[in-house]
Amino acid sequence: MSDAMVWVGCLACYNGGDLVGEWFDAGDAPTETTGENEFDARVKVPSEHITEAHEELWVMDTDGMPESREMSPDEANRIGAFLNEIESHDRLTTEAVRMYAQWAGVAFVDVDLRRCDDAYRGEWDSEVDFAQDYADDFLDREQPWPLNHIDWDAATEDFMQDYWSGEDPSGMVHIWDAH
Ligand SMILES: [Zn+2]
Repeated sequence: MSDAMVWVGCLACYNGGDLVGEWFDAGDAPTETTGENEFDARVKVPSEHITEAHEELWVMDTDGMPESREMSPDEANRIGAFLNEIESHDRLTTEAVRMYAQWAGVAFVDVDLRRCDDAYRGEWDSEVDFAQDYADDFLDREQPWPLNHIDWDAATEDFMQDYWSGEDPSGMVHIWDAH
């Protein structure tokens, strides 16, 4: 279960200047007040809530979500479910999926996680680090020659033709197969 949380509040109360709501797991955000659901059980609601005008709920704050903005509880549920799905892929992180989404030109929640996972080559300190790790399979690091004569920047640039990479805010490089 992802630890993404959303603060769900009554929209009518909010528009009237009152914050009436509670934090919920993103995947479990209640979508409307019914008088007998989780929202009503956990939130002390004003007496106005017996009227229909107070049925609509809205996400007004978020914590641990890929984007920090207001949204409908339905959208929070979709994102929460997607974050849980990402967690079921051991190698993937929210950050990696976000980068993949940008590269693929699709919305975050529309990423095909199986394809993203299959093509993922992990996160590295640099592209050179990735290329050197690959070269370890057929070059002997114990012997200086010919390693000490390799132009790793040039070798890496050529090697990376088959891959694409992106750098996350912490400076780590995430790499995927290009095809
Ligand atoms: Zn209300």
